[in-house]
Amino acid sequence: MPDASNLASYAVRVDASRGRRYPEPHHPYRDDFQRDRDRIIHSRAFRRLENKTQVFTRRISDHFRTRLTHTMEVAQISRTIAAALRLNESLVETLALVHDIGHPPFGHAGERALDEAMRPHGGSFDHNLHALRIVECFEQRYASHPGLNLTFEVREGIIKHSHDYSAAEHPELAEYLLDQRPPLEAQLIDLTDEIAYNTADLDDGFEAHLLALEEIGRGIEIFDRCLRQVEAEFANVGDKLKFNESLKRMLDQLVTDLIENTSLRLLRSGVETEADVRLYPERLAAFSANRDAERAQAKQFLYRHLYQSELLLPQKADGEKIIRELFDHWMKNPGALPAAYQLQMHSEAPARVICDYIAGMTDNFILDQHRKLCRRAETAPRAER
Ligand code: MG
Repeated sequence: MPDASNLASYAVRVDASRGRRYPEPHHPYRDDFQRDRDRIIHSRAFRRLENKTQVFTRRISDHFRTRLTHTMEVAQISRTIAAALRLNESLVETLALVHDIGHPPFGHAGERALDEAMRPHGGSFDHNLHALRIVECFEQRYASHPGLNLTFEVREGIIKHSHDYSAAEHPELAEYLLDQRPPLEAQLIDLTDEIAYNTADLDDGFEAHLLALEEIGRGIEIFDRCLRQVEAEFANVGDKLKFNESLKRMLDQLVTDLIENTSLRLLRSGVETEADVRLYPERLAAFSANRDAERAQAKQFLYRHLYQSELLLPQKADGEKIIRELFDHWMKNPGALPAAYQLQMHSEAPARVICDYIAGMTDNFILDQHRKLCRRAETAPRAER
């Protein structure tokens, strides 16, 4: 069991957890957050992250991050920060590992396409809400209860780590204390996610020869400062090593700033307990103003030079088209769905059932389905390049 005596007073304490939906006896040598982490790692939805797009699909290269390796990087960064702030590392690790579990195939393009497909049917798609449905309903591993039966704090973190849902729009989420801030362990995840993907996407973009060293330096001040240091120290190494060394320093500076600035804000706020953190008027985990501006600069740079690049735009359009066509196909031919989903249509709207089915798919599986059902052969040459 982790040693709780070293936790900060405002950390979440597992022995004060609001508990599971279906009470279970405690485990002899793992605490409840560690068990939740293990339940997530052993879930089907977690394994599927291996074949879900982060930014680059495997159709371009298999060197790049997938949603699984991105998730592992977020967990690594989050644990470092949690330990430095004396927060509950097991809860932070669990929230990091589960944070992207609700993503559909084809990354954000897939999320957008599913949301658009749902709109005419009066619905929507949101990956955090979907993640909650996965852990509450779709994972069927236990004879005694549906879902993974995760603790309240993990379910709350899934919903609240990156987005403030309004109680008026989402009455079904009322139990998650929507009028309160999430604990620091959940607040961290949104920021570590951004450190992880901003640096990783620069790395993959450089590796893909879509971004050049000087261009990144011109666009992102924090990277430029690191690069100048590296060039002064290692004048004779090649660009790839200069890039790697600079990126590592940029990541370290962002992590250090998040730790130091959050510590300072905690001190100034006067919060003493988890309850104080929840009731404080704003989130206390934050970068300093200067670093936050540089973080935003990196994000904008990536939008302009990577996400909207000529290599990635066709891949996104292709993903959106595949989702749209399959969604329409099953709306018109619900009898072509697997039997379990047809059964589900007795209790839920067809559009919701089809949306859930598609959202759970890996990139490979949905491509395969599209090839079989929508005569994918006609469009194959473009997708395979
Ligand atoms: Mg993420």
